[in-house]
Amino acid sequence: MPQVIRSPKVYDICIIGSGAAGGTAAKVLTEAGLSVVMLEAGPPVHPETDFKEHVWPYELDHRGAGVGAKVRGELNDEFMAPNGAWIIDGEPYTSAPGSNFHWFRSRVVGGRTNHWGRIALRFAPRDFKARSTDGMGDDWPITYEEVAPYYDKVESYIGVFGTKENIPSAPDGIFLPPPKPRCTEAFIKKACDKLNVLCVPSRLAILTKNHNGRRACHYCAQCGRGCISASNFSSTQVMIPPAQETGRLTLITGAMVREIVVGKDGRAEAASYIDKGTRSEQRVRAKAFMLAASACESARLLLNSKSTLFPDGLANFSGAVVRYLTDTVGSYGGGHFPQLEKVPPHNHDGVGGLHLYIPWWKFDRKNDFLRGYHIEFGGGRGMPTVGDWDDLCEEVEGYGLPLKQKIRSTYGTFIGFDGRGEMIPNEKSYCEIDPAVVDQWGIPVLRFHWQWGDNEIKMAKDMQETFRAIVEAAGGTYFAKATADGPNPYGIADGGVIIHELGTARMGTTPKTSVLNGYCQAHDVKNLFVIDAASFVTNPDKNPTLTIMALSWRASDYLVSQAKKGNL
Ligand SMILES: Cc1cc2nc3c(=O)[nH]c(=O)nc-3n(C[C@H](O)[C@H](O)[C@H](O)COP(=O)(O)OP(=O)(O)OC[C@H]3O[C@@H](n4cnc5c(N)ncnc54)[C@H](O)[C@@H]3O)c2cc1C
Ligand code: SF4
Repeated sequence: MPQVIRSPKVYDICIIGSGAAGGTAAKVLTEAGLSVVMLEAGPPVHPETDFKEHVWPYELDHRGAGVGAKVRGELNDEFMAPNGAWIIDGEPYTSAPGSNFHWFRSRVVGGRTNHWGRIALRFAPRDFKARSTDGMGDDWPITYEEVAPYYDKVESYIGVFGTKENIPSAPDGIFLPPPKPRCTEAFIKKACDKLNVLCVPSRLAILTKNHNGRRACHYCAQCGRGCISASNFSSTQVMIPPAQETGRLTLITGAMVREIVVGKDGRAEAASYIDKGTRSEQRVRAKAFMLAASACESARLLLNSKSTLFPDGLANFSGAVVRYLTDTVGSYGGGHFPQLEKVPPHNHDGVGGLHLYIPWWKFDRKNDFLRGYHIEFGGGRGMPTVGDWDDLCEEVEGYGLPLKQKIRSTYGTFIGFDGRGEMIPNEKSYCEIDPAVVDQWGIPVLRFHWQWGDNEIKMAKDMQETFRAIVEAAGGTYFAKATADGPNPYGIADGGVIIHELGTARMGTTPKTSVLNGYCQAHDVKNLFVIDAASFVTNPDKNPTLTIMALSWRASDYLVSQAKKGNL
């Protein structure tokens, strides 16, 4: 058996993962005076060299499109922020027969906050009490009112733009001023107004003013490629640095955690990890542990942490670990608007995301499905990205100037719509440890089971009908061919594709059916917390990351209060 190298120091807290959840906890805990060791599987990020928002496509080999222009649709290419991918060499996952699940992971300091769209929406009061409203799923053990002060703290600290709208399905927050709508956005808003569909300024974690020592956005519209000026939110640039400044954070990168080790008393006492550099097994000890490896990675870690005391995985007496996996319901459509050809060329830049969005607007109506969705949309004459012309040349024939003129005239005349809706957990969607597959570190991997329910399919149908209505009200031609047939009825995306997977160690009032209490603390192991989206009870239409940070901050405050009472 290989030798395990044990660190002599016992930290107050060990955090696993440095993304939205882990970064928030590191900041709060270290600033409160606790010593923290953070284990992160990926390498560090150096924004000045790793982020590429000011690199032009023509500066890259093959204009960044790769040999054969195969790069489009991928996020792990050389044009984007680093180390985020659908497939990671040596770290597979599997899907059960008949299930299609895709898992985007970022192995790097800051995790997927280096890659996210920065859409930062609060959950609504009714999202926390959905079962009490319609009888499906479960209620959270906490209320909106308990989380709201933490939404305030996160928004005030990271900076989120938006406007106060008083919409029941989309609570207002503490907002920086929003950017003005772009031409295509104002155009779609007019159509929404005709249809009585709400269309309001979006809410993104991007600075429209200098804020907390970070500079305002300079509107290069390239957020997906990182932001050297830290004008958008990443844990890497906004949460980890203040924690490091306290001198109380020990950040260990290239540390792939395999297992949480428990003592005879049933308390977590060490995290066992592979040092990727030396491939040696190391152990760090702490008084309390916070899993923040992302919802499915944290669940995997719990299941792989088996012992005589916890034969079915750590903190899994309920059997609820991995049971309530959900993703967001996504469906895509789009329109062609020939009238936009007449719009003179103009500067279409802005933040690297939408300036307007459509919140769930039918909250007080009877629909033929439960819960709701919002719509993100975009198009227009932004800077073409790598590989764009490859697509167009397949559609437009010709040579030289006439070809260029044709492409220029149609460029920016398409607007796309993405529905983002709530999935209700079902017993056919979950993950488990694949008994036959391990990753390159010898750690057993996850196998996903996935099935959408009828409610989600009905929601996707409604999305398609709405997209078409908006496009036609704006005088365009709708082009999605989403129908009831095939494996993806009404264009519903495969599981995991929207990258909002969560619910794999949910919180609840009873240890019989839930893993955590309302502070993300394991019912079965009192010094273990799971602070990422594994704790979520529902997956409302709102993108989850703002709520991940609010709950991580809340759990960290709770832990600090316990430490002050000597209860660590
Ligand atoms: C392209 C894209 C767009 C998105 N857009 C939005 C959006 O607009 N709004 C929104 O709310 N959300 C969005 N998301 C989702 C958002 O990024 C995630 O919800 C959020 O980052 C999750 O935070 P987390 O801390 O749980 O996990 P992550 O940010 O994924 O961080 C987990 C960290 O843990 C590390 N880790 C994993 N396993 C181990 C291990 N065994 N040992 C040690 N370290 C480990 C990883 O390397 C990683 O750094 C988007 C995601 C992507 C990829
Ligand atoms: S659009 Fe603004 S926030 Fe995004 S990368 Fe450019 S400067 Fe940074």
